[in-house]
Amino acid sequence: MENKLKIFNSLTGEKEVFVPLHEGNVGMYVCGPTVYSNVHLGNVRTFMSFDFIYRTLRFLGYKVRYVRNITDAGHLTDDGDVNNDRFVKQSRLEKLEPMEIVQKYTVDFHKVLELFNMLPPTIEPTATGHILEQIQLTEKLLADGFAYESNGSVYFDVLEYNRRGLNYGELSRRNIEELFANTRDLDGQGEKRNPQDFALWKKASPAHIMRWASPWGDGFPGWHLECTVMSTKYLGEQFDIHGGGMDLKFPHHECEIAQGKAGHGQSPVRYWMHANMLTMNGQRMSKSTGNYILPMQLVSGDNSFFEKPFPPAVIRFCFMQAHYRSVLDISNEAMLAAEKGYNRLMEALKAVNTLTTDLEHPTGFSAAIDELKEKCYAALLDDFNAPMLIAHLFEAVKWIFAVKNGEDKFCISDLETLRSLMNSFVGEVLGLQDVASQEASGDTLDGVLQLLIRMRMEARANKDWALSDKIRDELLALGIQLKDGKDGTTYSLS
Ligand code: AMP
Ligand code: ZN
Repeated sequence: MENKLKIFNSLTGEKEVFVPLHEGNVGMYVCGPTVYSNVHLGNVRTFMSFDFIYRTLRFLGYKVRYVRNITDAGHLTDDGDVNNDRFVKQSRLEKLEPMEIVQKYTVDFHKVLELFNMLPPTIEPTATGHILEQIQLTEKLLADGFAYESNGSVYFDVLEYNRRGLNYGELSRRNIEELFANTRDLDGQGEKRNPQDFALWKKASPAHIMRWASPWGDGFPGWHLECTVMSTKYLGEQFDIHGGGMDLKFPHHECEIAQGKAGHGQSPVRYWMHANMLTMNGQRMSKSTGNYILPMQLVSGDNSFFEKPFPPAVIRFCFMQAHYRSVLDISNEAMLAAEKGYNRLMEALKAVNTLTTDLEHPTGFSAAIDELKEKCYAALLDDFNAPMLIAHLFEAVKWIFAVKNGEDKFCISDLETLRSLMNSFVGEVLGLQDVASQEASGDTLDGVLQLLIRMRMEARANKDWALSDKIRDELLALGIQLKDGKDGTTYSLS
């Protein structure tokens, strides 16, 4: 039992020994972003939690098929107004085609993932690429009596689902009667039999640009349906792990379970994993309240929440210091402390990679290093406990500094084991090593930009306005904005 991976399953509320459906393989689906605006740092935390989980599964030797979708259609605004599809609304605001909105923010999302050294999923499907499958599943649910058509839209019949002994509310542990009593009909506009029924297909109003032909007329798919269709298409009607942020448990994941059980005759997911929220200064990060920061604003320092910029590696380290199921609060103090910890870890990593020894006999460290390695594995196996792993690595950091300062000695095999341990846990598993090298290129970029800023100042001093404007405009075209202030010129990256 000891060395088996245990996962906290949100469905049962318990830590369970992980038994994959196919030995040695893992099928994992994570709900991706709705690409109608830039991802905020809260979104980044959830994706990073699953990046760590993905890295750990691979490190433990599993072959992982990791599917993370792009929601590029069908996600209504919070007010539930059918005319206010998030993409359509944003496209009006930015005067762009909805698919230009999708492209713009998908590109931004990928840039952000790269910035934080997150690995790409093995499949990244889009909702618009799976309209046909969504129509097919809707037809099946209609034919089997789990859904009904109303005024060109199709709804899932939650009461009928429960009448057949299936159990709507099992994941969020909500009682259906309570749900019915407490819900207002926001997006059904009188079309639904019950407020809890959810849309599989929505009729498009004449003004709605993102529309597809269906047996029920022109419309677009419901948000919950895309995840059911894409996860089961690539991972099978039942698969190992489904992840997402805590806030998606209800209704999104509850609806996915209902669609899977009604459509495919079995509960779709064996282990439901939910990552906890990021808060900033004690308040949940969310675009709607204004308490949010974009990743690049924290990296460039262009924000009013933090006193200085923080490199992506430090942000990643800060996120890794909290367990994925705990709330993580970021504040100026928390980031400064993370920066200290990160720098110390990197210094130790550099030291262990450069230290030498000719001592052959085991030292006082030898047994302790073997024990430490066991403990690092145990932390990973215990529901992906990153903060525990980091605490163990800091034990090694202490030893490395003691040797570096000449207070103690490693033997050859100590050094080899410790070197491989530090490199694999810090680099491969926590994903921190590569970010450190990215930082070096960040320093180079900063150097080049400072040079250009000086050249522009010289041009202005010589009244060469053409050259000075050219430097400013061409940098802007590359997403780098120069700002002239009383203390000189600064830049921000978008
Ligand atoms: P969305 O693009 O709104 O569908 O969100 C993408 C992901 O970010 C989902 O898994 C959400 O649960 C997650 N998310 C949203 N807000 C936060 C937050 N403050 N902290 C952590 N994750 C969040
Ligand atoms: Zn989803």
